[in-house]
Amino acid sequence: MSIEMIANFAYILSAALFIFGLKMLGSPATARRGNLLSSVGMLIAVVAGLTAEGIVSYEYIIGGILIGTIIGALAARLVSMTSMPEMVALFNGSGGAASLLVGWSTLYGGDVSTFTAVTVLIAILIGGVTFTGSLIAYGKLSETINSAALVFTGQRVVNSLLLVAIVYCGYMFAVDPAADSQWLYAMLGLALVLGVMAVIPIGGADMPVVISLLNSYSGLAACAAGFAINNNILIVAGSLVGAAGIILTNIMCKAMNRSLANVLFSGFGAVKQGKAIEGEVKPISVEDAYYLFEAASNVCFVPGYGMAVAQAQHVVKELGEILENNGAEVSYAIHPVAGRMPGHMNVLLAEADVPYEQLVEMDDINPRIENVDIAVVIGANDVVNPSAREDEDSPIWGMPIINVDKARTVFVLKRSMASGFSGVDNPLFFGENTRMLFGDAKESISGVIAEFG
Ligand code: NDP
Repeated sequence: MSIEMIANFAYILSAALFIFGLKMLGSPATARRGNLLSSVGMLIAVVAGLTAEGIVSYEYIIGGILIGTIIGALAARLVSMTSMPEMVALFNGSGGAASLLVGWSTLYGGDVSTFTAVTVLIAILIGGVTFTGSLIAYGKLSETINSAALVFTGQRVVNSLLLVAIVYCGYMFAVDPAADSQWLYAMLGLALVLGVMAVIPIGGADMPVVISLLNSYSGLAACAAGFAINNNILIVAGSLVGAAGIILTNIMCKAMNRSLANVLFSGFGAVKQGKAIEGEVKPISVEDAYYLFEAASNVCFVPGYGMAVAQAQHVVKELGEILENNGAEVSYAIHPVAGRMPGHMNVLLAEADVPYEQLVEMDDINPRIENVDIAVVIGANDVVNPSAREDEDSPIWGMPIINVDKARTVFVLKRSMASGFSGVDNPLFFGENTRMLFGDAKESISGVIAEFG
């Protein structure tokens, strides 16, 4: 058996491991094993790829592994859980940059066919857009740059001109492909600019869609690079990431009740400004909250980004257990875009060992929210904002929310009256049945636990 054949068998094995791994990621109960399985698949793919391609420069490979391991270990230790969403954006960007470089490197291997030239172009285009787009997403998520949408007059014209220029440069390169082609450099530069231009008009509550879309792009870029270097497993892995990203993008769009085109081209909140909110805010103390908890028979926790900031998941679970022992029915309602990355709340609650059967999706909790005695909003804001349902002028109008305002009582745990990621004011805080429990969520919950003493 030739070395290529052995490599192809190894690739089939890797592809199967990726697919089973992905399937297992679908449930929190099997996700860890799924992750491990996919990692083994990737190891097999890398070893087979390096061997089959005759890349025997072990010094470079070992050097690469060492550098990667050090960066990975440091990142895992130093990057806080709250910064994970930004990290994911950087991962997407790195994937795009890597595919761009792999595609580009093909041109240094001698004459290339028009087909290869086109695949290189696609890898450079999508890889470049993913790279700079992800850097902007990183800035918005870490709030090092303004997370709001940035729109200006003539934006669409500029973007259309950019696209036309990219197609022209791409064509000129494809007719005479060379590694040092000026057209290639021009296209690379334009792709990098396009990445920035594509992401700046998207902001606020629309960011989850961008993250999942960039994730998909990073897969498509890898797929194109796979065609460029003629590597089957890169094509398969890239397609899997691309398809998974598109499915996730679709889920996110549905969660926002928006079409993809609307998210990409409308500019979040750029034209709309919701109604001014009036009313009285009714704060509650930890002691008074305790008395209500004590008497409640149905409590629903609704976590949001603030739970991640406060790292309150462990104390929330502890309070949940206390309430259960006190005879209450306890559930955790999860909004699909709560937090700063898809699945953010699931990850946090799984980390705290909250039983999966207590997690309830938005569509399942809303029909029975009237039976909830206390809805405890823990650092969530946009995902429980009733103006999405009631105020047509609100930038988040039409986005499905968890209807906590329809519960008998709502406790909102947050530090101030500040708005959430979308920057939209929230009438929930002024609701008749709302009590604001001001302070860091972990401290407030710990206070209630202490009262149960
Ligand atoms: P929000 O960003 O709307 O609100 C978070 C709230 O948490 C803030 O109002 C803040 O109020 C509060 N908070 C922060 N720190 C603490 C703390 N230590 N203790 C208590 N409260 C705290 O979060 P949601 O989860 O409701 O909504 C997510 C938003 O992010 C949506 O707009 C979504 O579209 C967007 N997004 C989601 C992504 C995803 O993939 N899930 C990705 C990117 C964006 P205060 O400062 O007063 O404490």
